[in-house]
Amino acid sequence: MIVGVPKEIKTLENRVALTPGGVESLVRRGHRVLVQRGAGVGSGLSDAEYEAAGAQMVSAEEAWAAQIVVKVKEPIAEEYKYLRKDLLLYTYLHLAADEPLTRALLAGGTTAIAYETVQLEDGSLPLLTPMSEVAGRMAPQVGAAALEKPHGGRGVLLGGVPGVAPASVVIIGGGVVGTNAAKIALGMGAQVTILDVSKPRLQYLDDVFGGRVITLASTEANIKKSIQHADLLIGAVLIPGAKAPKLVRRDMLPTMKEGSVIVDVAVDQGGCVETIRPTTHKDPTYVVDGVVHYGVANMPGAVPRTSTFALTNETLPYLLQLAEEGLDALRHNAALRRGLNTHQGKLTYKGVAEAFGLPY
Ligand code: NAD
Repeated sequence: MIVGVPKEIKTLENRVALTPGGVESLVRRGHRVLVQRGAGVGSGLSDAEYEAAGAQMVSAEEAWAAQIVVKVKEPIAEEYKYLRKDLLLYTYLHLAADEPLTRALLAGGTTAIAYETVQLEDGSLPLLTPMSEVAGRMAPQVGAAALEKPHGGRGVLLGGVPGVAPASVVIIGGGVVGTNAAKIALGMGAQVTILDVSKPRLQYLDDVFGGRVITLASTEANIKKSIQHADLLIGAVLIPGAKAPKLVRRDMLPTMKEGSVIVDVAVDQGGCVETIRPTTHKDPTYVVDGVVHYGVANMPGAVPRTSTFALTNETLPYLLQLAEEGLDALRHNAALRRGLNTHQGKLTYKGVAEAFGLPY
């Protein structure tokens, strides 16, 4: 099989869909890998590294002409011209939020597998998890910086010092993001509280953190009480397939400390804090009622090198199977089959069809 890796051209996207290690795995199995020149530069991966791994360095047109094209972000309008019937596209798509792309994939007859809908038997989303791990681990880091006085915060050091109490970090949602945020916040010496609606999840967190975090049921009363003493509040809830519930309302903000910080990681699903809105890495924070808000919707974009390796660790096994078996891989691998969104001009994913009232 011929696998193409185009350079990402969406603004500020520095990740790349395949590392030189991934290239080597494919080439060793007899596949040809065409990498667009400069595709890895944003992640600190040179053309020479790709060539040494066995890739051929090519133009955008040549990379897109491969049988399988592997990417990070959804194709943007300038890339629609490459969508064609005998193309297998494997990337993040988020089609339910993108009608023009959905129509372009259908018009092109492209077979498209969306990372975000590849789903295991237990309902987990293995190709979303790595980015939640990255965002979760970043949350205390960006929150700690925002708490510094020159960044608008109340001038509190997360870990305190001997003789001075550490900061209080409150995390709403103890899933992948919340657990990774807790791990780093604890490592930085903060006092950590996690709220979740799932009792089994709270039991798990209590077990793995060996009592070093306070776990609380996510009731309105507990949220109200917790945010009053929080120096850093991290939003990390997810209700799959739905907008995040507004758990921290605007009328609660005045009860928070002046200069405290909210990092709402769930902002990409609308956020669990009423006053959060999407921001960018260039201008990540703003203040409402004396509380600093951080709402970057693509947090992993700031650490493209880590994110590139984290993503390809998870996408590579499926890519190897697709390269080996072609579309038969979808018959053999149910997780991959759930990832199929469009095929030969037809929508094959219910949620996307419902979003646009298209036949499924
Ligand atoms: P997850 O499914 O692993 O965890 C979500 C948790 O929220 C679950 O434990 C669930 O029980 C809990 N929850 C649901 N309703 C709740 C409530 N009312 N109160 C408290 N907890 C509640 O999801 P995840 O992978 O951790 O993702 C969390 C959010 O972070 C998602 O919206 C995801 O899209 C987002 N995310 C954002 C970025 C970014 O760059 N901003 C990056 C990755 C993920």
